[in-house]
Amino acid sequence: MHRIVVIGGGYGGLRAIEKLVGTPDTEITLIDRNGYHYMQTEVYGYIAGTKDIDELAVDLEGWCGGFSPPVRFVRGEVERIDPDGSLVHLDTSAIPYDTLIIATGARTNFPSFIEGLREHSYGVKRLEKAFGFRHRFQELVERKLEGDAEPIHIVVAGAGLSGVEVAAEMAYMLRRYKKTLGRHIREIEITLVDACDTILPGLHPFVIESARKRLHDLNVVLKTSAFIDRVDETHLHLKTKERLPYTFIVFTGGIRAISDFVPESFEKNSAGQLAVTPYLTIEGYENVFAIGDVADIRDPEGNPLPPTAQIAEKSAEHVARTVIRRLRGEETHPFAGKMDGLFIALGGRYGVAELFGWRFKGIGVYYLKRLVTLVYYLGISLRVNAGYKIR
Ligand SMILES: Cc1cc2nc3c(=O)[nH]c(=O)nc-3n(C[C@H](O)[C@H](O)[C@H](O)COP(=O)(O)OP(=O)(O)OC[C@H]3O[C@@H](n4cnc5c(N)ncnc54)[C@H](O)[C@@H]3O)c2cc1C
Repeated sequence: MHRIVVIGGGYGGLRAIEKLVGTPDTEITLIDRNGYHYMQTEVYGYIAGTKDIDELAVDLEGWCGGFSPPVRFVRGEVERIDPDGSLVHLDTSAIPYDTLIIATGARTNFPSFIEGLREHSYGVKRLEKAFGFRHRFQELVERKLEGDAEPIHIVVAGAGLSGVEVAAEMAYMLRRYKKTLGRHIREIEITLVDACDTILPGLHPFVIESARKRLHDLNVVLKTSAFIDRVDETHLHLKTKERLPYTFIVFTGGIRAISDFVPESFEKNSAGQLAVTPYLTIEGYENVFAIGDVADIRDPEGNPLPPTAQIAEKSAEHVARTVIRRLRGEETHPFAGKMDGLFIALGGRYGVAELFGWRFKGIGVYYLKRLVTLVYYLGISLRVNAGYKIR
């Protein structure tokens, strides 16, 4: 029996398992430190209160149980891997493998040179952080409802994809609360801050301009070329000496791969991502693969691909195909995936998209994004339903 171990039940890990299940003479184990699959791409709606927890988290044990034969689920934090002994070490146990797929994703990277940032801000890469953030947002709205006249300053630091989505959805929710909060709505301000000279750096000017206009319509204050120097109890201090008051801050300014459990001999880039060969294996270890955000994945020209759910899934599919081909004794191929496009939710039923070189904005984009999410969610939840039935 060929033992396949997948570390990480995120977008990459689950897709790899979906594709590997049913391969003859294999047994699959999924390890995750959480008992659930966290759909980070939907977190903007959860924070603003437009989506609930059931649209964000899916039980991994139920999902694993939905396969026949079931995938083994082990809940635990991987502390170390031993690629020479082919073992994954958890707190109190070690799991042997023949093929290992590392899919542990990334965490929010609070730059240590920005004094006070980590202590005073929320990240959204972990579900428990999103819980706290949502409660804080609701609490502030309730405070206003009770007539508190104190101004509220919400700062979103980092105007990449996630920062823009979070700021837009919160601003949209506030607009919806207009009839509830009356003139007090003007006492709540959302500011989106980024060190770059634009929001959504690297994206097409059409996408940037559409997002900028929408954020403006939603009364989000944009501050670009704004380097945060330090954060104290009440203010963000910019390098320009400007001080921004805040009630709470969400930091979406960067990520760092979760790769601290690999041996020192594994090469990493400055974001902690594991260097991989064109076959997505670790140099020197043909049976160890890395996929998704934890890996420094490149296109065939050698350009880095962005850490997205889309690339996590494509790299997972490729690795699954490679494993199956190897087991059959067939030839394998280097990874040649690229981004097909991107949907950006911009509050309410509005979005902007870039797809196969075409660009769109408006309500249609929202429904298309919703459809993609629904199909993904349905696939996962049907599997969970089957898992419960079997048990
Ligand atoms: C607000 C927001 C919006 C986004 N929007 C989009 C979007 O629209 N489109 C898009 O393509 N991407 C989007 N992304 C990015 C996308 O969510 C990530 O790229 C994707 O989650 C990466 O998938 P992954 O499988 O590599 O890792 P993850 O999904 O992060 O999964 C990693 C898993 O590994 C587990 N794990 C980590 N360390 C350990 C350990 N030591 N032991 C055991 N288990 C461990 C974690 O618990 C987790 O379940 C967005 C991200 C955010 C935050």
